[in-house]
Amino acid sequence: MAKVKKTKKNKKVVKKNKLVHSEKTRKEKNKEIKAAPEPVVLQTLRGMKDILPEEQSFWDQVRKVSERLARDYGFSRIDTPIVEFSNLFVRSVGEGTDIVEKEMYNFITRGGDKATLRPEMTAGIARAYIQHGMQVLHKPVKLFSIGQAYRYDRPQEGRYREFHQINYDAFGELDPILDAQMIQVASRIVQNLGIKSIQVQVNSIGCPACRKEYRELLVNYLESKKQKLCQDCKRRLETNPMRVLDCKEDKCYQVAVNAPQSVDHLCEECRVHFKTLLEYLDELDLPYVINPQLVRGLDYYTKTVFEIWSGDEEGRKTALGGGGRYDNLIKTLGGEATPAIGFGLGVERLIIEMKRVQAKPYKAPRPRVFLAQLGDLAKKKSLKMFSELEKNGILVAESFGRGSLKSQLRVADWLGVEITLILGQKEALDGTVIVKNMATGVQEIVSAEKLIDIIKRKLKADSVIIYHNNGNQNGFSHVV
Ligand SMILES: [Zn+2]
Ligand SMILES: [Zn+2]
Repeated sequence: MAKVKKTKKNKKVVKKNKLVHSEKTRKEKNKEIKAAPEPVVLQTLRGMKDILPEEQSFWDQVRKVSERLARDYGFSRIDTPIVEFSNLFVRSVGEGTDIVEKEMYNFITRGGDKATLRPEMTAGIARAYIQHGMQVLHKPVKLFSIGQAYRYDRPQEGRYREFHQINYDAFGELDPILDAQMIQVASRIVQNLGIKSIQVQVNSIGCPACRKEYRELLVNYLESKKQKLCQDCKRRLETNPMRVLDCKEDKCYQVAVNAPQSVDHLCEECRVHFKTLLEYLDELDLPYVINPQLVRGLDYYTKTVFEIWSGDEEGRKTALGGGGRYDNLIKTLGGEATPAIGFGLGVERLIIEMKRVQAKPYKAPRPRVFLAQLGDLAKKKSLKMFSELEKNGILVAESFGRGSLKSQLRVADWLGVEITLILGQKEALDGTVIVKNMATGVQEIVSAEKLIDIIKRKLKADSVIIYHNNGNQNGFSHVV
């Protein structure tokens, strides 16, 4: 593009342009005043939180323990999208439930689909089971999942709007032995996390056949006590009367304790199923209590429902999760009739309990070797040396950004490594490295080519003194 020369002829034009330009700026400024950009709120949304690096050792522990038990009990991992069609949840969780009525994050996609952030895991997994024709697989089809879910609920301790669940589901088996095994897996996870004092609560809410009769009895009873119920429960009486039984309001609880109990009104099939489950639990030496008020808040449950609770010395109890049978869900969603059972545990709640009982988080292996460098050539070579060590399975720490050897060695000291490798200008030229034993202070010069073998040998040798952490929670342990 040719430059506009400031000749007499076009001076005017330039001036004019300037004018136009400044006018524009003024216009833009006015616009800015009218619609000032909103400042960015540097906070998570209410009920959501970051999981910071220092928290991750607890999360790692939950992941490792739950993955290990999933593997041991024959569950395969599945991950389903966080977003699903809204009506999947309306149909499965149930129209009259709190979740569907007031807690779902609903939105319309740009394409016009009604979508929802999953409020629980099972509906999506059931959808995937049908969509991918898993009914042809060897049964029971056992699936394990871990991920976040969303409920627009009132946030409080251990209850977030974005929360995480570990979820286990098994499809295609009617036998109550599976119910017992699921309860066993749930208890094992919690106990393997170090939460030893737990209580298993079980109940049977029957099947559609026996629940119809029971529901009538319950509604009659609740109608007679209607004045004593909270506002929500008066409404639930119409939409979902069983939910009155697990209302947290004390006055509703007083009504609920004397209500007819579903276990007393089971059909023959449901009664035998429940009785057999309890026999299996006895056989497992797994202590449980029957809680007739336990109904779970989702419509898809049938027969067995259960929860795992943790208790402290003062008698406070926290529900860590629960689940139950959902023998009609697959059919309701349009698949072929398939009995199923599943449970979920809340990761945030598990971690709060782990901290309360001072359970140990996961300890990641810590580096036992530090690589220090000095001078331009050494710095260049150190990057490659680091990756060579790493490729050979030797965990190394470094502080490449720091200039002085002194400050690098300070980092090495702070990390408590056993060996520091020092690569200076001379060593970089000679193809050698200084290997310093941090416990004895003894230094030796070794050939860079033999470094890997020498380090491997040294790390295995008993003569290397291993530092133990000094009250530092994330301190390293002896890992080869
Ligand atoms: Zn029944
Ligand atoms: Zn109530």
